[in-house]
Amino acid sequence: MLRVENLYKSFAGTEDVVTGVSFQINEGEVVALIGPSGSGKSTLLRCLTLLEKIDHGAIYVAGEPMVTTAPSGEVIYAPEAALRKIRLRLGMVFQNFNLFPHFSVLRNITEAPIHVAGMPPAEAEALARQLLAKIGLSDKADAYPYQLSGGQSQRVAIARALAMKPDILFFDEPTSALDPELTGEVLKVIRNLAAEQMTMMVVTHEMAFAREVADRVIFMDKGQIVEEGTPEILFGRPANERTRTFLGNYN
Ligand code: ADP
Ligand code: MG
Repeated sequence: MLRVENLYKSFAGTEDVVTGVSFQINEGEVVALIGPSGSGKSTLLRCLTLLEKIDHGAIYVAGEPMVTTAPSGEVIYAPEAALRKIRLRLGMVFQNFNLFPHFSVLRNITEAPIHVAGMPPAEAEALARQLLAKIGLSDKADAYPYQLSGGQSQRVAIARALAMKPDILFFDEPTSALDPELTGEVLKVIRNLAAEQMTMMVVTHEMAFAREVADRVIFMDKGQIVEEGTPEILFGRPANERTRTFLGNYN
């Protein structure tokens, strides 16, 4: 579903933040991305979801080139029309929810399907109500974001992403902004999506959750993938010293 080859990204005036990252995600797979703060996880996700331009490398979505690099070093993005289609296949859920504050919950969910994907409004609303039922927030359709708890807001943000029917859903620390008692309700929604074979990449510091829900875990440090493997191997008997040190800080 996603293939990343030798991806590099830096920002003006910084050392390389992502330095030669390669991996792939198969259909229906849940990949947890873990690593210390500042290791480049968010930057990587932002490159994958077209929020940042890459400096070098290639990204393929369902076999289609989103961006490649010519032998000359020139980075070549797909033409705008193709890119727009690819973008629709990639969903993103942020740490801070990023709901539209002046829209109701329902409109937060229907906005992109109607105005970006061209879905008929009645169909978008039916889909939104179905998604709200799924996340247990049917009674909040007419509420505004300020009336929601953090956990409810994040569940709405997930519903909003799902309304676009993405092929891959990326999560960047979806529970980091939440009080501990609210993380469970968000993790439960992600767990249910995993059970439905939704293809997902989840940046998280919730190691128990990663261990439980992920098919594969990638450990990143200093802009590189240090180690990847099944949760059993990566958490149970990590091969790399840096992985062991990082995980040791969570025990
Ligand atoms: P993580 O998500 O793993 O904590 P980030 O990808 O957010 O790591 O950041 C990796 C490094 O890149 C950090 O040193 C951060 O300061 C730097 N960085 C991230 N975004 C920018 C930016 N827009 N401009 C300059 N530096 C950035
Ligand atoms: Mg981050």
